[in-house]
Amino acid sequence: MSEAEAGFALPDIPAVADVDPATTDLASLKASQRMKIPRQAMACQEPEARTRNFREVALGFSAEQARIEAARCLQCKTPHCVEGCPVGIDIPAFIKQIEAGRPQEAGRILKAYSPLPSVCGRVCPQEKQCEARCVVGVRGEPVAIGRLERFAGDALLDGETLLPDVAPPTGKRVAVVGAGPAGLTVAGELARKGHKVTVFDAFPKPGGVLLYGIPEFRLPNAIVDAEVRALQGLGVGFVMNTLVGRALSLAELRKDYDAVFLGTGAGLPKMLGIPGEDLKGVYTANEFLTRVNLMRADRFPDHGTPVTVGKHVIVVGCGNTAMDAARCAKRLGAEVTVAYRRSVAESTARREELEHAMEEGIIFRWLHTPIELIGDERGWLREASCAVMELTEPGPDGRRGVRDTGERLVLPCETIIIALGCAVNPLLPRTESGLRTLRGGVVVVDEATGETSLPGVYAGGDVITGGATVILAMGQGHRAAEAMHARLMA
Ligand SMILES: Cc1cc2nc3c(=O)[nH]c(=O)nc-3n(C[C@H](O)[C@H](O)[C@H](O)COP(=O)(O)OP(=O)(O)OC[C@H]3O[C@@H](n4cnc5c(N)ncnc54)[C@H](O)[C@@H]3O)c2cc1C
Repeated sequence: MSEAEAGFALPDIPAVADVDPATTDLASLKASQRMKIPRQAMACQEPEARTRNFREVALGFSAEQARIEAARCLQCKTPHCVEGCPVGIDIPAFIKQIEAGRPQEAGRILKAYSPLPSVCGRVCPQEKQCEARCVVGVRGEPVAIGRLERFAGDALLDGETLLPDVAPPTGKRVAVVGAGPAGLTVAGELARKGHKVTVFDAFPKPGGVLLYGIPEFRLPNAIVDAEVRALQGLGVGFVMNTLVGRALSLAELRKDYDAVFLGTGAGLPKMLGIPGEDLKGVYTANEFLTRVNLMRADRFPDHGTPVTVGKHVIVVGCGNTAMDAARCAKRLGAEVTVAYRRSVAESTARREELEHAMEEGIIFRWLHTPIELIGDERGWLREASCAVMELTEPGPDGRRGVRDTGERLVLPCETIIIALGCAVNPLLPRTESGLRTLRGGVVVVDEATGETSLPGVYAGGDVITGGATVILAMGQGHRAAEAMHARLMA
């Protein structure tokens, strides 16, 4: 699309690259001027320093930077960015408030669509979603929508706690199983509508993967804790350390509550299935990250749970989980290699995480996959024999496969962390035969409502999709909450 077609000309353009929001009337900027403003860089801890601590790497926009970045938004009449957002956030509206210097107002707009904007601003794969559809990105770099979301979300956290209006009590009781983003979304929405919500989780603290999977240096636990406190302020009750299916059955919950939501995620790790996986020094990414993030192995011996990490660590896989595990191991002092059987182009990790990992000195062995783990006489891992792979032509789904070239490479390693994705835990379907699942254990739900094969039992998040994203889990939580409310009030 040319500028003429877009309805604006190229007039005298002031040097807006150095635009100062204190002295420039941002609202009067023309589209052509806005497009000349460079995307604002976000301050980060330097790689050398950050690999020695677990503090947050990306430091966020300053108020000035946020206003300048917001001024890059063209406020399109048909905002394609919104189409790229799984929960359809009114992106131009919240950005306009930031440009006007009203970040809390921006945060309130975000909260109408997403209960956890500070979380999503940090972990959503924006480059594949909203930012991929941004018109400014056609010619240059897209508006930094995710960073602006983080800025506005944090403005709400920093400000006074703004409790939303809560409807009068309905007398209905709802049980939510799983305190991850899907369950927390349902809990917040139904509590606001006046229902009495109790969340059950197997772990000692609410947050799901946000807390035990994603490390502090990417998503500080304090942010998740603040969101949980806000839910408690709405009257949501939390019952922790309670594995539903063992400590309590789904049938009991159905008897005691008017509706049940299952947001139990996909926490069953996949293994390589190669010789030597039973050696000491072999972790799944789930166990490794839980030990570091939730059980605070990063603060051992001040905290009681250690994690043993050798001098050489291999992380297998190249998604977000693999990046998190690799960067944690680096911070614990290891030399870390990521072995991935495909190439960088097929990695599913967020671009920023890949870039940060590379900056931090993680070694990447593309087209390598372990085929045998070799231990010493005491059963400790010492080496990994890797097959060198090559890519095949794309299949019908457009994804390239891999094949073994026959070449082998033996790498030293005392620790290996397997990050190949996770499946759904079969516990609930096994203990509740009426709960319909597909192969792989994903729970089947009605597309429109999120209701499972058990009347009054709804589900959303990774338990219905397999491992996906935070924003999708929240979107499905929102869909189920709407349907549950309609049912409860019928
Ligand atoms: C390390 C890692 C990094 C990730 N990085 C990103 C990222 O950068 N961006 C992104 O968008 N997504 C990321 N993801 C994916 C994202 O975190 C998940 O898609 C999302 O958390 C799914 O939310 P959920 O609510 O469905 O489940 P979860 O977050 O998994 O929460 C499920 C909860 O249910 C509890 N539970 C399970 N079974 C039971 C039971 N029987 N009884 C009681 N409680 C139970 C669990 O203890 C857990 O607290 C990442 C995932 C991992 C593992």
